[in-house]
Amino acid sequence: MKLLSTGNPKVLKGIKQGYNTYILHLAPAKLSGHEVCPKRTVGCTDSCLNTAGRGGMFKRGEVTNVIQEARIRKTKLFFTDRDGFMELLVKDIQLAIKQSERLGLIPVFRLNGTSDLSWEKYPVRKSSGYYYANIFEAFPNVQFYDYTKVLGRKVKGISNYHLTFSAADGNDADVTKAIQQGYNIATVFGIKKTVPMPELYLGTPVFNGDESDLRFLDPKGVIVGLYAKGKAKKDTSGFVKYPTFTIFDMVNQRMAA
Ligand code: SF4
Repeated sequence: MKLLSTGNPKVLKGIKQGYNTYILHLAPAKLSGHEVCPKRTVGCTDSCLNTAGRGGMFKRGEVTNVIQEARIRKTKLFFTDRDGFMELLVKDIQLAIKQSERLGLIPVFRLNGTSDLSWEKYPVRKSSGYYYANIFEAFPNVQFYDYTKVLGRKVKGISNYHLTFSAADGNDADVTKAIQQGYNIATVFGIKKTVPMPELYLGTPVFNGDESDLRFLDPKGVIVGLYAKGKAKKDTSGFVKYPTFTIFDMVNQRMAA
């Protein structure tokens, strides 16, 4: 079983910048029977990118497809055979490093493509027989990154793991704390892709997070603005935010039109 995949449109943007992103997609929420998103909200569950792209293409009359089935298989393996799963993950990362070297790209890894697990908690063993506290310690020279809604994760001191906090419906208090703790905040905006991102949101500068998925390269102290995609375009839960545009934004929008 292969755990990691590449090839979504944002990953392709990263390749132009010299990075090859490998993503682990598990079955989000409790689709596998196991919860992998402890802080999910009604809105994010409904708008989850799990059904974006090929993952959301179903034959007429069917409610699943090979991609969804593979995500469920991987998630079940994670919960029923943790050692076996982590061994596969180590092998996939080693393979990805070699593959990227051949392509002249820097491999980077996002393990919560469609989940919100605290990877820092899970020990791994490499083929050398050595145990490591987590996957980040096992690959200290490799960059990992994720989005999370879980505050208080024990990642201080893990220099090769970058987290961006995700705003959603009903987690405003956590967003405030996350800003105080120095996190950038990913926020989905209900605006068209043809409209430039607002300059400020919550009094904080907005950075266009759709230009690539390479969150570890983002400036610090920003809102990472994302355009609503797929089901999020119809969200009414409060997951998608609607910014108030300033006069500067309006001038920018005119110039972009
Ligand atoms: S927490 Fe993330 S992965 Fe989980 S359901 Fe919400 S948007 Fe999807």
